[in-house]
Order: sequence, then C-alpha cells, then structure tokens
Amino acid sequence: MFTKILIANRGEIALRVIRACQEMGITSVAVHSTADSDAMHVRMADESVCIGPASSTESYLSKAAIISACEITGAEAVHPGYGFLSENAAFAQALQDHDITFIGPTAEHIRIMGDKITAKETAKALGIPVVPGSDGGVADYESAIGVAAAIGFPVIIKATAGGGGRGMKVARNPEELEIAFRTARSESKAAFGNDEVYIEKYLQTPRHIEIQVFGDGKGNAVHLGERDCSLQRRHQKVFEEAPGPVITPALRAKIGKICADAVAKINYIGAGTIEFLYENGEFFFIEMNTRLQVEHPVTETIFGVDLVREQIRVAAGMGLSFTQDELEINGHAIEVRINAEKLPNFSPCPGKVRMFHAPGGLGVRMDSALYSGYSIPPYYDSLIGKLIVHGRDRPEALARLRRALGELIVDGVDTTVPLFHALLAEPDIQHGEYNIHWLEKWLAAQF
Ligand code: ADP
Repeated sequence: MFTKILIANRGEIALRVIRACQEMGITSVAVHSTADSDAMHVRMADESVCIGPASSTESYLSKAAIISACEITGAEAVHPGYGFLSENAAFAQALQDHDITFIGPTAEHIRIMGDKITAKETAKALGIPVVPGSDGGVADYESAIGVAAAIGFPVIIKATAGGGGRGMKVARNPEELEIAFRTARSESKAAFGNDEVYIEKYLQTPRHIEIQVFGDGKGNAVHLGERDCSLQRRHQKVFEEAPGPVITPALRAKIGKICADAVAKINYIGAGTIEFLYENGEFFFIEMNTRLQVEHPVTETIFGVDLVREQIRVAAGMGLSFTQDELEINGHAIEVRINAEKLPNFSPCPGKVRMFHAPGGLGVRMDSALYSGYSIPPYYDSLIGKLIVHGRDRPEALARLRRALGELIVDGVDTTVPLFHALLAEPDIQHGEYNIHWLEKWLAAQF
C-alpha cells in the first residue's frame, strides 16, 4: 500500500479523498493555487504545496507543477478527483513516466473513452448497446443527409471531442440539418480545436441512466447498479438518485452484467461509469467516464462501500474488497448539487460565506469544503457542496432530503437550495416521473 498520496484537486472532492487516505493510514498531500491558500482541503491534508496562481491552467491543470509537487513531497501516487486532469491521458502517461502511480485507468483506456467515436466503437465491439447513428465521423453535409435518411429524423450532431454537454445540435429535417451540421462543426472547432462531428438518432424522452463499474486491472470487474441522473439543466446534472425509479432488478442485472463483462474483457482498472440513455426498456450507450463521478456517493450509500478506498486499493495492485455476489442494495439514496448560483439564471455567485451549518442526523451526508468565514473564489466551478440522503425507501429519502435542506445554512451567497425545495413539492419528482427534458421544461414554466 502507498504511504503518501497527492490529491490533484480542490473543493469537496479533495476532502473526500483526504478522508479515505486518513482512514487507510496514508499521508495526504494537498496542492493548491494562490487563491486557495485558505481552502479546507489545504487545512485538512497532512501536507500542502502551492502549485501556481489562481488560473487553473497554471495550477490545477499544470502537469509539470503537480509532478514537481510529487517529487518534492515524495508522494507515490496521485488521485485526480473529477474534472481538471482526471481524464487527461497525457497526465496519466506523464506520471507513469515518472514512476508515480495514477489512481485511475491506464492512459490508453482514458484515450479510447475520451474520444467519443472510438469510445462508441469500443463499446459496440464489447457488446454494449449503442445509439443508432453514423459509424464514426461525418465529413460533409451529403454524408450527414445519408445517415439521417438511414436512421430517421430527428438526429443529434455531436462533437467527437465534446464534453460538458457542449457542441451538440438537434435537427428535425434536412434544412435544420444543414445549418446544425455547419454550426456544430465551427463551435466544436472553437471549443475543442477539433471540428469532427458524428450523428446519432435523437431520442425524444429518454432518461439518463449510468452504470457504475469497477475493475481490478486483472480481468475481474463488478457493477454497482445504476444512478438516474435525468434531472439536468443544460446537460449538467443537478439531482441524482440510486436505484433508478424505473429500473427493475432484472433490467439492472442484465445491463450491469453487460457492463461489468465489457470492462473485465479489457482489463479495466479502477472506477468507471458507463452512461446510457434509457427509453422504452432499452439502453443506448452515450459515453464512458473513466474516473470517479461527482454523484458517486449515492452508489456508496446504497451499497455501503467506499469507492475511493477501492480506487486506492486497486491502484496499489490489491484486489477489490467485494465480489459481485456480496453487493446488495440497501434502501434509496438521493444527492443534490448545491451550487453557489443565483436563481433564476443560475449565474455564479462567489463571495464570502458568513455562516455555514451542515445538516446532520440519521441518513444524512454533506460533502462540502465550506466553513464559516470562507470566501468562495470566482475562478473555479460553482459546486460548493453535495447533500446526500439515505432512506429505507424512496419516500423516506425524499422526506429526509426536505428535512436536511431545511437545516442547511449557507449565509452570505446565493445557492441552488431553493430550487430543490421547489422540486420536492412537484408530484412528478415525488413519483419519479421525469426524463432528461423535465427540468428544462419546468424551469421555463417557472420563470
Ligand atoms: P457530454 O460529454 O458533453 O456530457 P453526452 O454524450 O454525455 O455529452 O450527452 C450529454 C447529454 O446530452 C445526455 O445526458 C442527454 O441529455 C443528451 N443527449 C446526448 N445524446 C443524445 C441523443 N442521442 N438523444 C437525445 N439526447 C442526447
């Protein structure tokens, strides 16, 4: 086992990893920008290193600065968290070249899954059901029309290099396709430096269901069921739950086995999430994330496992600490993302938190790096906390969420808490009847 791990991240996820290190008796090293000298992750870690100025390109995204920090502190492994360098194949490779362990999959697997076309081809070859669409990139409008004719309108044009919901355009007829194809390419070029796009059938009312997988890198893998992350605003998740309200044990077992077998076949190591759109009983692969997800706590909660601990274990060459048969779902979990944002426009709202009080009690977990008197810097994303609740069933989890939201105090900045109070009053949310468009429609009707 490692004796010292460096956490190449900030905020709540840095705390999450530090906590796992503490429980495993591993020394933790925080890195931080000059804007984060007073951040909680710096205070909580055993050691800390300043790696650069506020701008993340010069700090949290600087491979050289992070590798230097490992060399200065003698850290043997790096946990990348999510975001920043967590899905950067060159970073994973650079660490390996310096004899430092990347706590995550191999550079090769990150690369394959980071390109949406190779990801889809790989998924298909491994027996995972995919959304009908173009085989690979589409070079010109004539080919695009050909694909649309074959799969039928509406279609969605997606950037090969896309991410974060950007670079996607829907077209309902040939005229729309012509414009959408051109704008998707130019936007993708501007955002990702790559104008390759591909085409998929646009599913009209799907749910976003993702399967958590875990591999040991030696051909063994398990799945930990699904998370329903259909409540999204601008393709960003805001509310996640497990198990999914519409997924039956038989469906779970079937798609879970397909996913676990697929990652076992490629000797995948560590945590991964296979994302699907789900409609009328069918799953359609959209992408795989080769890292820990923001919403991993709902899975931890219902299975009673520590996914970060497992990541560290398999990275150190140990096996998984559970088998598929030992994984059993217990109750229901919901996570809401508390962002420092002002409604109704969700504009970022950094600033000084005069007072912070986290909710507590049975079945309540608050993952946050806030503290009273902390100033949220304007340079990074607006997630300031995740509230996760556990109930014996979905109604109990909902009641607990309402109660815990009432206890939470974040005084001094606007947050998305009022959004969740309003959502909890909606019969559709209470009954689990929503798809990926529900939230946008509801928001449009509210404001
Ligand atoms: P990104 O990596 O940018 O997040 P994804 O491929 O994961 O892109 O898609 C993000 C979201 O876009 C999905 O959760 C879904 O809401 C929507 N989406 C993607 N593909 C389709 C599709 N074929 N039909 C309908 N909606 C889609």
